[in-house]
This record gives sequence, C-alpha cells and structure tokens, in this order.
Amino acid sequence: MVCFQESGQPDDVRYMAELQDDGSFKLKCRNGHETRIALQEQRFEYLMELAANAILDGYFREAVVSFASSLERFIEFYIRVVLKNKNVRDEVINTTWKQLSKQSERQLGAYMMLHLAERGMTAPILSNEYVKLRNEVVHKGKVASREEAIRYGNAVLITIIPTLEELKENYRDSIEAVTRNHIYTVHNAYTSGTVTSTMSYPTIVSLTRDWRVQQPDLITWLEQLEKRRAKIAW
Ligand SMILES: [Zn+2]
Repeated sequence: MVCFQESGQPDDVRYMAELQDDGSFKLKCRNGHETRIALQEQRFEYLMELAANAILDGYFREAVVSFASSLERFIEFYIRVVLKNKNVRDEVINTTWKQLSKQSERQLGAYMMLHLAERGMTAPILSNEYVKLRNEVVHKGKVASREEAIRYGNAVLITIIPTLEELKENYRDSIEAVTRNHIYTVHNAYTSGTVTSTMSYPTIVSLTRDWRVQQPDLITWLEQLEKRRAKIAW
C-alpha cells in the first residue's frame, strides 16, 4: 500500500508471509515498508484452513489437532454471538469467559445449554469415536492416518455447519458486531506507523459465504485448495 501511495505503482513482488496468532499477516516489502494485513475471518475459520493444508502436506495428526481446535473455537464464537445478541456487554462476557477459558469441557457444557435455550434442541456434538481419536492424537501422540484425518474433519464439519447456518440466518447483526470487534482488536494491536489493511479469505466454514453458494464437503474443498496452491507455487 505504501509503495502504491508513493510511486503510483503497486509492488508486484510476491512475499511469503507467516500467519500470526491474531489472524494477521505481517510483511516488509523490498522498500522497507512494514505492512500488516488483518484477516477478517475468525479463528475457527482459519484453523480449518490450517487443517486442510496439513492434510495436503501429509501431516495428518496435525490436521486432527487443528480440526479439533477449530471446533472448540467455533463453540466460543457461538457463545459470544448469542450473548452479543442478548446485549450482554463485552467486558462481562470476557470476565465470565475467563472462568471457562482453560477448560474445554466447561465451554462445551455452556454451549450445549445455551444452544438448548436458544433452539429448544440438543446441539450437534462429536460422537465418542471422534472424541477418542482426538484424545489419542493430543494426549498419546497417536499418528493419525490420512483416512482418519479426513473422517475426523468431516465429523467436525457436520457438527459446525448446521449451527453456523443457523447463526448466519438469525444472528447477522451480532456476527457483524463480533467481526468488527475482532478486526478492531487486531488493528489496534499494531504498533503505530505500521500500515494495516484488512482482507477476507473464506475457508471451508465461512461466515461470508452466501447461502446460495453450496457448502463444499471436505474432499471437494481439498481438491479446490490443491489447485489454488498449485497456482501460487513458489
Ligand atoms: Zn512497499
């Protein structure tokens, strides 16, 4: 952006940028300008993309871990959006969340009860088979196979999608508020003088995908991702 402002020409060199924990990329161009690009996507969205890339790279146990983390962060996102919808103040949400933040079982419990209160039905959750697989990978160092990683990823997708669709349909304003907050936080975290911009990178679970566009399944998504990766090969 700075190159463009200074010379009227965009810098057309491609740079490798590492995804940061807060969902941004930082890079320094050849003219020394430091830039940060904040992803509009939530953590559960880009964790899915990390999992998909791990499968393509042959890291299947790492894929299982990222899929599992994506589901956990989706659960947090759901809770935050629903509370936002009830006009609960951010400070109160954050203080209460701290009590749950280190124990995923507590978060799952809060999610199930909130979902029950909102929808009058039990939230879809992972079956024991997949909970066991995840635990073996995380706690016992199990090396998952490609087939296990894909089955696990599909199970996570099937768990997230119906609730995500429900959120997109009935909690649009709250989703927008949570997204704005997220972008604001990322931008504010940057040191002054660094140029920041925002970009959107829809992943297999996407808050921005239009309802008219069919939800891809994991295998289709992996095929599409492989083609995109081949295009930007270094
Ligand atoms: Zn530059």
